[in-house]
Amino acid sequence: MDFALTAEQSALQSAVRAFAAREIAPLAAERDATNVYPVELFKKMAALGYLGLKFPAAYGGGDGGNLDAALMFEELGAASAGITLGVYCHVILALTAIARIGDEAQKQRYLAPGLRGEKIGAFGSTEAGAGSDITAISTRAARDGDAYVLNGAKLFCTNSPIADFIVCSAVTDATRGGGGISLFIVDRDAPGLTVSPPIKTLGMHPAQTAEVVFENVRVPMENCLGPENRGVPNMLTAFAEGRIIAAAFALGIARAAFESARQYALARVQFGQSIAQNQVIAHRLADMDTRIQAARWLTYHAAWLADHARPFVKEASQAKVFATEAAAKLATQALHIQGAYGYVMEAPAQRYYRDTHVLEIGEGTSEILRNVIAKQLGL
Ligand SMILES: Cc1cc2nc3c(=O)[nH]c(=O)nc-3n(C[C@H](O)[C@H](O)[C@H](O)COP(=O)(O)OP(=O)(O)OC[C@H]3O[C@@H](n4cnc5c(N)ncnc54)[C@H](O)[C@@H]3O)c2cc1C
Repeated sequence: MDFALTAEQSALQSAVRAFAAREIAPLAAERDATNVYPVELFKKMAALGYLGLKFPAAYGGGDGGNLDAALMFEELGAASAGITLGVYCHVILALTAIARIGDEAQKQRYLAPGLRGEKIGAFGSTEAGAGSDITAISTRAARDGDAYVLNGAKLFCTNSPIADFIVCSAVTDATRGGGGISLFIVDRDAPGLTVSPPIKTLGMHPAQTAEVVFENVRVPMENCLGPENRGVPNMLTAFAEGRIIAAAFALGIARAAFESARQYALARVQFGQSIAQNQVIAHRLADMDTRIQAARWLTYHAAWLADHARPFVKEASQAKVFATEAAAKLATQALHIQGAYGYVMEAPAQRYYRDTHVLEIGEGTSEILRNVIAKQLGL
């Protein structure tokens, strides 16, 4: 076993860390307060090859793997989770679906410009009646000549207010349950498609999460993504690796929360000594770092398995459950260590605390992923 990153991976990690410190971290507090997404970031990241890290060179990507993407998302997540969520939904949801399932024309029209940061993607599965159960959707796509006509609504569709296209699921055969769902790429300016103002959420404020309504939206047949009625299995395959990246994203928040607490504990003097000199605080920080290391190695190992074409579904689910729950726990502990100063809105600690919880919900809740792990264990 070789636990060392390659020279290229170490260089990527350092470069993304510097990029995130320069281009993202300075915006974190301001955009959390104003709820405005820095859309120019997509082109900046594209110029450095970051959007395309794990995609084929034929479409402008870097031919890298999940470990490369995980290293990048850890750095981005540490700088601003709310900004990172927009990049995640574009790269790991919308573009990954097209890269995995799309035909050549779809890749040329959406993936290549997406990797250049010229088109921004969103992904819509969730509806009012369909969250964890992705087969319970009621958005319909009816064939009409050379097009499908979409009617229905997607909830919590991140990036939809800033997107150029939305990859979404719709029922194409209502008699077949989950076997009657297909995926579509819908242009954001298609007549009949409307996007609500962003939904107010506890955290992830810069990310633009909204409702998308389809009223007789005509989608050309060539925008059906993958074979008709294969939407559910295709989604499950396309997004299995996404859990590894969600774990890395959470790891970034955990690391930032830990570092804020460590620095505060060293600087804060009470009873004539730094609070870090109280063993109870030092032990808590020691436990926090231990949890981060455990989350990191679960994540890297799952990425390594996926990159070496080995079974990784159980490990990716375990990494996502562990890392996202670790991040939530650490964010709470970090806030507590900083006392009142962690609770004020000027302090990043409260933002880590608000941002982290949605990572335990999206991309499979912790409960759903424990079901996946149990199934893999033959239970
Ligand atoms: C900020 C934000 C951004 C989002 N962005 C997107 C996006 O871009 N695209 C998109 O499609 N969706 C998005 N979502 C939605 C997200 O994917 C869903 O919230 C998630 O899939 C869970 O669905 P739900 O909230 O309806 O919860 P439900 O499925 O209703 O679950 C509620 C609770 O019941 C539990 N539960 C449900 N079924 C079971 C079971 N079988 N066994 C045990 N426990 C169970 C769940 O774990 C959870 O604790 C976003 C949500 C948020 C908050």
